[in-house]
Amino acid sequence: MPLLQPHVLPEETLSHPIRIVEPIVDERMYVTQPHLAPLAEFIPYLEKIWQSKVLTNGGPFHQQFEKALCEYLGVKHLALFTNGTLALVTALQALRITGEVITTPYSFVATAHSLLWNGIKPVFVDVDPHTLNLDPAKIEAAITPQTTAIMPVHCYGHPCDVEAIQKIADNYNLKVIYDAAHAFGVQTGNGSVLQHGDLSVLSFHATKVFNTFEGGAIICPDAKTKQHIDHLKNFGYVDEVTVVASGINGKMSEINAAFGLLQLKHIDVALARRKEIDARYRTLLRDVPGVRCVNDAGEKTANYSYFPILVENDYPLSRDALYQKFRDHEIIVRRYFYPLISEFPMYRGTPSAHRDNLPAASEAALKVLCIPIHPGMSDEDVERVVDIIASA
Ligand SMILES: *Cc1c(COP(=O)(O)O)cnc(C)c1O
Repeated sequence: MPLLQPHVLPEETLSHPIRIVEPIVDERMYVTQPHLAPLAEFIPYLEKIWQSKVLTNGGPFHQQFEKALCEYLGVKHLALFTNGTLALVTALQALRITGEVITTPYSFVATAHSLLWNGIKPVFVDVDPHTLNLDPAKIEAAITPQTTAIMPVHCYGHPCDVEAIQKIADNYNLKVIYDAAHAFGVQTGNGSVLQHGDLSVLSFHATKVFNTFEGGAIICPDAKTKQHIDHLKNFGYVDEVTVVASGINGKMSEINAAFGLLQLKHIDVALARRKEIDARYRTLLRDVPGVRCVNDAGEKTANYSYFPILVENDYPLSRDALYQKFRDHEIIVRRYFYPLISEFPMYRGTPSAHRDNLPAASEAALKVLCIPIHPGMSDEDVERVVDIIASA
């Protein structure tokens, strides 16, 4: 049976007939594939929304999903958002961050874009060559009288050195906002990694470990901060007649919240399968010369959101030749993170963006390849990927 049957909607039921004539069949293997709860399980949620006609503005599913996520993640307060980027933008606004913010160039571009949206100057600091997270030892030298905050990323879901970063923040009276877009469900020794810093921001984008199609959240330390953020994501409205800030529309809709609630029931199975795939890759790649797996994050803490490898100089092919070889075999791998954020035109001009300031990040960007990892992969898929690497 083909994966998907051609599907034609009956014309008479639609005022604007939509015809999906071609079956959507894509044999390629991607770096990730969204994990989706069974469609049949979602229908009752939709029926509830159609009955209540509450579509957004903090409706019942929004409230339930916030509560369920707090419990699942082991955090006290959280505000849902339309996406992770608007959550980052709002987190900075909530803490009234201005001037300069220290951040990593080795991330998705939204990290630094959220600073520009607030009129803040990003100051790039290099990463640790082993963890690929912001290097705490390099932060102090980048602090100026204009510095107000640090925005690190838990890259690939591997926790930053949160203690060292907090110590610097305390010494210099800086705020810390974690871009935790990769860090859903990640635990450190004493609970959720999301409890660290002043605020942490999650993304539930389709490509992330846990998705609501699009979505995001800010983890807040207390009810007062959450309430303020709830105002900011609703245009700054406090009540019917009071607007306290130039807030944005960042509210998650009831459809996304309902879907998130359902997705949460299936996430543990998905994470368990990711863990198996991660372990299989590490075993199979152990003896392949010239290839280094980034960061074995340890049993308890990881969410296995990505599987980055570094293609070293003694590997027979260049990183980009291997990337192309994968494509030739219909396997779509990604170079996360290449180019560095600091290489894009809107960032290139600042002195901190210069390659000489960012040797470890620059090297990683040239060596890294994220190979497929998602719960839909079979053991044979994993072996196929490894064969391509091992047969060079
Ligand atoms: C995905 C991602 C974002 C943006 O999240 P969206 O929900 O897509 O807006 C921000 N930072 C990092 C590191 C990401 O990977």
